[in-house]
Amino acid sequence: MLDLTYESPKPKTIAGATGDWELVIGLEVHAQVASQAKLFSGASTTFGAEPNSNVSFVDAAMPGMLPVINEFCVAQAVRTGLGLKAAINLWSAFDRKNYFYPDLPQGYQISQLYHPIVGEGEVLVDMGPGVARMVRIERIHLEQDAGKSIHDMDPHMSFVDLNRTGVALMEIVSRPDIRGPEEAAAYVGKLRQIMRYLGTCDGNMQNGNLRADVNVSVCRPGDYEKYQATQDFSHLGTRCEIKNMNSMRFIQQAIEYEARRQIALIEDGKEVVQETRLYDPDKGETRSMRSKEEAHDYRYFPCPDLLPLEIEQGWVDDIAASLPELPDAKRERFVTDYGMTEYDASVLTAEVESAAFFEEVARGRDGKLAANWVINELFGRLKKEDLSIADSPVSAAQLGGIIELIGKGDISGKIAKDLFEIVWTEGGDPAAIVEERGMKQVTDTGAIEAEVDRVIAENPAQVEKAKSNPKLAGWFVGQVMKATGGKANPKAVNDLVAAKLGL
Ligand code: ADP
Ligand code: MG
Repeated sequence: MLDLTYESPKPKTIAGATGDWELVIGLEVHAQVASQAKLFSGASTTFGAEPNSNVSFVDAAMPGMLPVINEFCVAQAVRTGLGLKAAINLWSAFDRKNYFYPDLPQGYQISQLYHPIVGEGEVLVDMGPGVARMVRIERIHLEQDAGKSIHDMDPHMSFVDLNRTGVALMEIVSRPDIRGPEEAAAYVGKLRQIMRYLGTCDGNMQNGNLRADVNVSVCRPGDYEKYQATQDFSHLGTRCEIKNMNSMRFIQQAIEYEARRQIALIEDGKEVVQETRLYDPDKGETRSMRSKEEAHDYRYFPCPDLLPLEIEQGWVDDIAASLPELPDAKRERFVTDYGMTEYDASVLTAEVESAAFFEEVARGRDGKLAANWVINELFGRLKKEDLSIADSPVSAAQLGGIIELIGKGDISGKIAKDLFEIVWTEGGDPAAIVEERGMKQVTDTGAIEAEVDRVIAENPAQVEKAKSNPKLAGWFVGQVMKATGGKANPKAVNDLVAAKLGL
């Protein structure tokens, strides 16, 4: 049961010379399907393989070769659609999008223009505790990726690597519901998170496995609401599309630059031309790549090599039944089950592996304390050493053991940090380490009392001062803690010092 009471963030406003402007953004995200084989051939999709080693006759477009659809890729697209609460189309079809490109040997890309496999869905984009934007998904279609042209290896020649040719992509098209650069990045982040939970795309942006075409326009305050009411685009400005962005930072920078460029044009009495642009991260600007192309420019037609794709509702239902708990639901559950803040819950559920690790740490123990330790000590330390949770030297069972010792009052929080350090570097069972190295907290008030008495007897001058200034009691507590190697129960020390000094 997901609590959908959230507040919508304010749209980003840019002050122009003639008044305020708002941004309108729609994204076309290309997500590489996590699959070992390509969409229409059995060639491997392994990243970083020797150039042109993962190329079948189908990918190389040898005459007479026929594409055969990869059922697993279709299942992955359906799984993604279900994860985005989208309609699944039991009947879809592939079209040829014709264009020439040196890294596209077929001379066309097989895509789904008219009948995509996934229809309308929605994504809740988190913008901070209790603040979120619902972004509608228009469609998801399956298509082939192209190869790679390499222009920087030789001054006179270009090279082509066809390893990527024919790899399955899901193109996820949003409605223009995104209202600022941060939201655009957060939207891509949320898609990435959901797909990583689903296991349908690894989300590796560096390798180009997740990239976005960003459509940007500007409008006057109030115009967007008119569009929302009628879904009539005529109130909105002309958009430009910035191609192929594979960095969250660049997506934000490009949107910001592009919006300002459009505002300057309009305020100058000029027109925004609908076109495709490229972002240059070195210069921090977008530049024109080509004028906007329309469907007819590509001479789309149904691909004669492939039958329409018909899937059965029962098959879709089986996939639906196998979906894991998704990020929004997990976050809500963490808040209710463990009593943690929404912020902590979103940190812990950012990656499915972290969430699973946390739940193992917290099982049967103090959830809030476990959350604290996983987020602050463990994540902090992993980040410092640039390690992922899978490579954590401290296992969930070990961290759970430490938390159990704190819970039982066997060790103080401070000793627990030392213990964490020992387990991190040397490994071992936390309870056994505490036993062997005499790290157990002293709760025996008799022993603590003796130390308190000793410190008071040895420091008469401090005692006088503390009597007129109770804040100085802390100094005595510090001395006792030091003398006991930090093992005295701090609360017991505090109480005894206060009592003995008559505070
Ligand atoms: P086309 O068919 O010309 O590619 P689409 O309707 O498929 O156009 O839209 C492509 C993308 O552009 C979608 O993500 C959509 O949300 C976005 N988009 C449409 N209108 C606008 C607008 N006025 N401003 C920003 N983005 C827009
Ligand atoms: Mg389009």
